[in-house]
Amino acid sequence: MNLIFLGPPGVGKGTQAKLLCEKYSILHLSTGDLLRSEIIEKTEIGNLAKSFIDKGELATDDVLLKMMNNRLKKDDAQNGYLLDGFPRTIPQAHGLELTMKQIGHKIDSVISLIADEDELINRLVNRGLKSGRSDDSIEIIRNRQQIYWNQTSPLLNYYEAMNLLINVDGIGKISDINNEIVRIVNQYA
Ligand code: AMP
Repeated sequence: MNLIFLGPPGVGKGTQAKLLCEKYSILHLSTGDLLRSEIIEKTEIGNLAKSFIDKGELATDDVLLKMMNNRLKKDDAQNGYLLDGFPRTIPQAHGLELTMKQIGHKIDSVISLIADEDELINRLVNRGLKSGRSDDSIEIIRNRQQIYWNQTSPLLNYYEAMNLLINVDGIGKISDINNEIVRIVNQYA
């Protein structure tokens, strides 16, 4: 089962992704986490991505595509995965399709988590107080929301047109949202 999670920053993609991946024993691939590890290890990809992450902007498509093209070809990605935070632009979606085609994978479903923007900004401000993440300050949070609407939300129509998109309400109890997603993806497991 190969899934994509879409949704604005703070909607709970990471939390829901972890629960789902544990339940179905599939690989959780968060590009935000992967990039943060690359930065810590001071790799070429990490160096290229750092200034973008710190400003709350998207790292470039070629960096992301290079990283994910390598990652999806590894042995541990051959039995299903959930992409959390990727693709984030239409060119990334095209690149992903190409890579998946090369290795004989297909996308089963794209889950879009939905929530009101004010609620998300509050959640992220609270997370920033605890996480110490360099991109969880109020100006950068606003920037990241804006970037989602400008650059990532066109993917909603894109996957809708491919009949892959399913919308899920991201506000509510974590367990209720998880149950709803499980109900939806059970058909692909
Ligand atoms: P996240 O943890 O998903 O919120 O990602 C944190 C930051 O990593 C984002 O604000 C971007 O700077 C960068 N990032 C993560 N995924 C991508 C992507 N698919 N394309 C470009 N930049 C990304």
